[in-house]
Amino acid sequence: MFENAKSDGKIGTYTFSTPICRIVIRFQFLSANDFFGEIDESAFSGIIAKALEYAGYQEKQELEIVVYINLLEMRRIRQAVSSAIQKKQPVSIHHHYVTHDLAHVDRADLRTGKNKVYIDFTNGYCFYLLTAYNDTFQHYGVEAISKADEKQLLAGLERHAKEQYLQKLYAVIAHELTHLWHLKKSKASEYCQRRTKRFNRLQKDYEKSIEVEGQIQSLFRYPKESFLSILENILKHLQKWYVHLRKKFILFEQMLCEEGMAVFMEKYLTGKYDFQAIKRNAVASAQKLQQEFNAFLEAFEFIVQFLKKMYQAIQKNSSYYPPKQEIQQYEGMVNIIITFIYSSMGHAPYTIGSDIPSMLYYGSFPIEEFGGFTQGKLIGQYMIACRNFSMAATVSVGDKGSGIFNIYQNTTMFNKLRKELGIS
Ligand SMILES: [Zn+2]
Repeated sequence: MFENAKSDGKIGTYTFSTPICRIVIRFQFLSANDFFGEIDESAFSGIIAKALEYAGYQEKQELEIVVYINLLEMRRIRQAVSSAIQKKQPVSIHHHYVTHDLAHVDRADLRTGKNKVYIDFTNGYCFYLLTAYNDTFQHYGVEAISKADEKQLLAGLERHAKEQYLQKLYAVIAHELTHLWHLKKSKASEYCQRRTKRFNRLQKDYEKSIEVEGQIQSLFRYPKESFLSILENILKHLQKWYVHLRKKFILFEQMLCEEGMAVFMEKYLTGKYDFQAIKRNAVASAQKLQQEFNAFLEAFEFIVQFLKKMYQAIQKNSSYYPPKQEIQQYEGMVNIIITFIYSSMGHAPYTIGSDIPSMLYYGSFPIEEFGGFTQGKLIGQYMIACRNFSMAATVSVGDKGSGIFNIYQNTTMFNKLRKELGIS
């Protein structure tokens, strides 16, 4: 397909030029020749060139794509499928593989002026192989699996997995290329640096906050002789824990705009853009997130009061240790915090965020225009568009915003609770 394609089998680089820019693909832990023994060369580079043409990417500078392959993991998954065939059982899929697990961009590269996309081929391949086997199992049943030739079946599944992967690749590349131009155009890095500066000053001691968070999580797993000193350390540094949690809301707002734009472009370019469906999913996701936030606030309050009460009890009676039931309740509350902060707040930006560009596009804004909006302007214009069309705003930022998940109101409530609990 690309007459100018050049590969250096030994060091694993593969280069070709498109009308937009030159592309360098670097293979990690594998040569280009080995990789193209597995995956069709012209299909792979053709998809990348096509995504480059349509994703709004216009940088003339060289684009580097790093393909990560873990042959051991691939062999492990092949063996898992092969033994599932022998046992005539389905295989379990542990990970929730989604587009954003298949590739990423790194802010540090942008800061140093590099346009780079990292693709995790292993993740995608393994997911599609496991899914292909389970689908076959479900569709044809145990009978057919036991009659099939194991080697042939496995080879067929692998072929299918690779095809599926290539089909998904276009959306994956379009998503990451959107990040590359959008981060630059919306001046996201400058904006986020300004906003986090204040919190970085507050949180000079990042490691301390991580330490405290870890101690809160595993407080009752420490030996009893170090229990009191750990508890004292936690109580002394509660403010650091608060700041650490509070920072996640800044990251959330940033992810909303960045991932939202990338998911929107991914859907738009693959012909899967559906305004109503995006709105529906975003509303459901925002409602769920708000409920989880309310539970998060309650859990935070519970934990702080529990720790203080326990400390007072130890002051009165040095051999005091809470009953098992209370420990379980405490750990349940810690889980609520962890799930909210690290899982829900990390996943929701993809569903809620895509509603932002989708709404602006629906309101006849050209993509090139809102693609250049800063974070504040993007959400601001989104809120106006929702109001103009009398539609639910899934998120809002100001004190007068009426979004289902109002970042400003929520963080204000969190701050109020901090003051009430005497954390400063
Ligand atoms: Zn992304």
